[in-house]
Amino acid sequence: MASSHADSVLPEHARERLRAGVATVGERESLAVRSPVSGDAIGTVPECTADDVAAAVERARDAQSDWADRSVTERADVLDRFAEAVTADRTELLDVVQLETGKARFDALEEVLDIVATADYYARRGPGHLESTRRRGAVPGLTRTVEHADPVGVVGCISPWNYPLTLAVSDLLPALLAGNGAVLKPAEATPFSALRAVELLESAGLPAGLVQVVTGDGERLGEPLISRVDHLRFTGSTAVGREVAALAGEHLVDTSLELGGKNPAVVLADADLDETVRGLLNGCYANAGQLCIATERVYVERPLFEGFRQAFVAATERLDLGVGLDYGPDVGSLVSHEQLETVDSHVADARERGATVETGGRRREDVSPWAYEPTVLTDLPAAATAASEETFGPVVSLVPVDAVAEAVERANDTDYGLHASVWTGDADRGERVARRIEAGSVSINDGYRAMWASTDAPMGGVGDSGIGRRHGRQGIRDYTESQTVTTQRGHPLAIPERVPNRVAAAGATAGVRLLRWVRDRSPRGR
Ligand code: NAD
Repeated sequence: MASSHADSVLPEHARERLRAGVATVGERESLAVRSPVSGDAIGTVPECTADDVAAAVERARDAQSDWADRSVTERADVLDRFAEAVTADRTELLDVVQLETGKARFDALEEVLDIVATADYYARRGPGHLESTRRRGAVPGLTRTVEHADPVGVVGCISPWNYPLTLAVSDLLPALLAGNGAVLKPAEATPFSALRAVELLESAGLPAGLVQVVTGDGERLGEPLISRVDHLRFTGSTAVGREVAALAGEHLVDTSLELGGKNPAVVLADADLDETVRGLLNGCYANAGQLCIATERVYVERPLFEGFRQAFVAATERLDLGVGLDYGPDVGSLVSHEQLETVDSHVADARERGATVETGGRRREDVSPWAYEPTVLTDLPAAATAASEETFGPVVSLVPVDAVAEAVERANDTDYGLHASVWTGDADRGERVARRIEAGSVSINDGYRAMWASTDAPMGGVGDSGIGRRHGRQGIRDYTESQTVTTQRGHPLAIPERVPNRVAAAGATAGVRLLRWVRDRSPRGR
């Protein structure tokens, strides 16, 4: 992709327009955004300050009450129109995402389709998730108890660079549908994708000002943001997630944290070799491995190991590494020089410790400044960095195992617990194995796509992979405060004037016993 392409994707007037969408209250220093395609600066955004963040939260708060007063159907219509606008504008969005991240076009398409699917899901199912619900009252027939879900107010969203559209905007959609305002802090490397998505939201009818975007250094902007919002959704590394959680704890702000992973795949001996290779190729190398749910460790039952190793290495070598605004390359560039250094250092460390590099293992400056070859390792010692730390690049280790129990044990031998996959010809057995893996989600006979795209089901991590879930009912209810309203018919549950406390105590105890007797006769779980 030549620099003339970069100019045609983000011409000066478009850069200026997007830059003007950043919330500032004065002149600010500029932060350069570099394209992995060429390494060149493709534009600048303001280095926002704590004052900008404070003003942004206030503006979002001002716009929020009118928005919350609108009916949920009206708010859902905005999401519907947003899905249409994104579909209509997909070519430009794909170009901007590719320019900022260097990812392959199909990986960019995955993001675009994801925000369309998420907007569509919440536009249709969100109103039901938000409905007020009758709950079992204290005294059957006399107590009416209703649970309501109110917007929390202003949601802060801090997002990473790897999926700059999806992770900036998709998590905001349920927050907005629930009646909240939002302040978004996209990653330093990828502000333009987020700014363009917010423009499209406004073109779909979102009130101007309801979503504010602040750009700049996360370390400086984190505290001013977290201390002012009513819920903080953070997606990023576990290390930063811990700092964010500490700040949120200090300010008693509710948080959802979607963090890192070191995701295993378990390949059983009865798995279909070709399908497993095809599925894991996607599972390992999607977005050049810069995907929180990408597979980095593959445990294969020994009878299949050699065949799998050969087929997987050969398939990896057939992948086309490149950058370009077309669907040609299978695998794109890494996002930055820092990411390239991390990936390269993990592979160098693995080599030094005696791992075999079956294929790949090289920087490819001839392709683009930060490109790295899809890499397969075997004989990776447990002490190697790549054996336990998230590489977040196109590097996977293959490990033979003697039994499923060993595969499960090794899969669980990590502090992370984001995602795993199981590959087998017997789906029932696959489910049984899946239930023994300690991860927030497990895919059977698929890399991750079917799981991620099952938007009705919660997605998130256990252990060091996070707190909370996105998607489904929980993915919207997390952006609400519940209010329980209880109406007691007849008399209040207070001791009548002339009844001695001793008699009231006996009556209350008998009442609770009676309730237990009645409930014992209804099925459990109801
Ligand atoms: P990162 O943690 O470095 O940065 C994420 C965001 O946090 C950025 O916007 C950054 O500016 C901001 N930030 C940095 N320091 C901060 C601080 N002290 N306070 C507040 N905000 C701060 O992560 P990254 O390198 O951008 O993204 C890669 C990581 O994200 C990987 O670990 C990956 O696994 C994880 N990730 C997780 C999910 C998920 O859903 N679980 C999805 C995508 C990425």
